[in-house]
Amino acid sequence: NQGAETFRYESDITRLRSLVIHSLYSHKDVFLRELLSNANDALEKLRLVSLTDRSVLSAGEGNVTIEVIPNPNESLLEPKTGKIVIRDTGIGMSKDELTRNLGTIARSGTNEFLKKAEEGQGVDGNLIGQFGLGFYSCFLVSPTVRVSSLPPATSSNPDPIQHTFTSSSTGDSFDVFPDPRGNTLRRGTEIVLEIGEEEAEFLSVDKLKSLIEKHSTFSTTFPIYIKDRKITKVPTPPPQSPVEDGDPDEFADDLDTDETTPKENSIQEVKEESWIRVNDKAPIWMREPKEVSDEEYKAFYQAVSKDDQGEPLGWSHFKGDTGSGVSFRAIMYIPSSLPKDFWSKMTSGINNVRLMVKRVFITDDLGEEFMPRWLSYLKVTVDADDLPLNVSRETLQNNRFLSQLQRILVRKALDLFTKVSNDQPENYKEIAKLYGNALRIGLMDSPKDKLKIAKLLRFESTRSNYTTLEEYVENRKEGQKQMYYIAGVGETARDLAKSPFVEKLHARGYEVLLLNLPSDEPMMASLDQFMGMTTQDVSKKGLKYGDEDENEAEKKELEAQKIAFRPLIEWLKKDLAGQINDVTVTNRLVTSPCTIIVDSWGWSANMQRIMSAQTD
Ligand code: ADP
Ligand code: MG
Repeated sequence: NQGAETFRYESDITRLRSLVIHSLYSHKDVFLRELLSNANDALEKLRLVSLTDRSVLSAGEGNVTIEVIPNPNESLLEPKTGKIVIRDTGIGMSKDELTRNLGTIARSGTNEFLKKAEEGQGVDGNLIGQFGLGFYSCFLVSPTVRVSSLPPATSSNPDPIQHTFTSSSTGDSFDVFPDPRGNTLRRGTEIVLEIGEEEAEFLSVDKLKSLIEKHSTFSTTFPIYIKDRKITKVPTPPPQSPVEDGDPDEFADDLDTDETTPKENSIQEVKEESWIRVNDKAPIWMREPKEVSDEEYKAFYQAVSKDDQGEPLGWSHFKGDTGSGVSFRAIMYIPSSLPKDFWSKMTSGINNVRLMVKRVFITDDLGEEFMPRWLSYLKVTVDADDLPLNVSRETLQNNRFLSQLQRILVRKALDLFTKVSNDQPENYKEIAKLYGNALRIGLMDSPKDKLKIAKLLRFESTRSNYTTLEEYVENRKEGQKQMYYIAGVGETARDLAKSPFVEKLHARGYEVLLLNLPSDEPMMASLDQFMGMTTQDVSKKGLKYGDEDENEAEKKELEAQKIAFRPLIEWLKKDLAGQINDVTVTNRLVTSPCTIIVDSWGWSANMQRIMSAQTD
């Protein structure tokens, strides 16, 4: 092509592209979702610009749409090969932007992505979306890709020129050149994919339609149309078939040649074209919950979370009112897994809450502080009714709406967990496993929700491998006022149960909670009380049996033993002076002859291990 400049891909990009192609080989259809999501982003960017500069719309056209055009090569036979054209009337790209955005800039997430992928940490559709590598997914179905683009005319750039980017899936370079056809687009971007025999299914309108319905109806807010061609046979020559005005599907050198030429007195093939609007249903969050099927909720989850395989562990769909006159609708999901870097990265909550205003996407970055960290993995879509469309993140942050919204979302999240624990116990088991640690942190962080969160926690104990604190209370022995626990991070419940502190309690018929999560011990200390019982670490001083008072015989025996062992105690106290605080006779133990315990205000052995691991 005249004036073509050839650029080398950055070496990272070449590696990335081949990684994407290889790892997604069995999920080829993600290409459509990714390209449509880019088209949608481009339209959103145009909308934002148009808020301050109306001329970007009037110079071209007001139309803001996405078109998908399957173009099989043969007219009557089963389509074997062909093209797919995806076109948007969005913000478009200049020559520089084509070069930068599609080829040369190593993006922020790139290195991290490479590391993860090369460590074999499942490269799936999920990662592709998260790291902004969507465009390269077009090479999953197409050996060559052509992107033509025209930015809108503006006062600073009144006569933009359409440029084209071409690249093959294997080479290490790409070309960018002024489009030889001139400005065939009125504005926006057109992507042409070459579809080979193996991917021919994507040339079917029905296939495209179902893919779009499945993956894109929720993530794209602008209308998507598919061009449908029907070929019918009629006996008489049709009137001159309507020539499309500048349909730029094709370069001049490969113009459609299958236009039918009328032959007299013979059967004519007539090509009828129509546009099918795909995503014409009201967005799922605007519908009434009872009219939305579980399948639709799951599909929406997969779209917002880019979690192709996973199913949400629970969801809730609600209307709300912030009290300052802004009403909204929202859908909240508990995802199927915790982000891999959740515990190491403070920013993992970003992008999980999508804020829309009257169905128009505003932002998915409400800041790290927006959701409390222990709930930041929830996927939430919020659509507010009464905010101005041009709210920016800055004005939002000064707006009472956000803090009110946050409070409501936290409350709804707790309600959601409670509901799943009652209605879907199997799902809740999974939630307790995945999010148990986060919920414990929530208990410490939000004193006013302490009780509600405590009820959501699940524990192993000497009685059960899955118990609630309420069950513990129900199962307490008469007179028992303390909730017993022992903590040992990373130890198994079975090992904890072998502890000499636990054995006597167990032998006497008391239940002991066996805690092994890092947050367990500080959480229990912070919980302090639950339904009239105080929490008690069995390795600490202060432990009381509930039946002590009634058990006179035992009390007497203890007194007798205290006297009998006085000489030994005195000797031990002298011999170990300076290393220990006290030596006492106890009835806590069954088979072990002695044990070391910690003062009720001291660090348990477990805490000491945690602290020394942190200061190493
Ligand atoms: P991401 O969408 O996460 O940024 P992609 O690989 O999907 O990553 O796209 C790369 C970039 O290319 C986008 O950020 C955008 O700047 C540009 N781009 C892609 N498709 C389009 C389009 N249809 N219109 C305008 N710009 C686009
Ligand atoms: Mg993208």
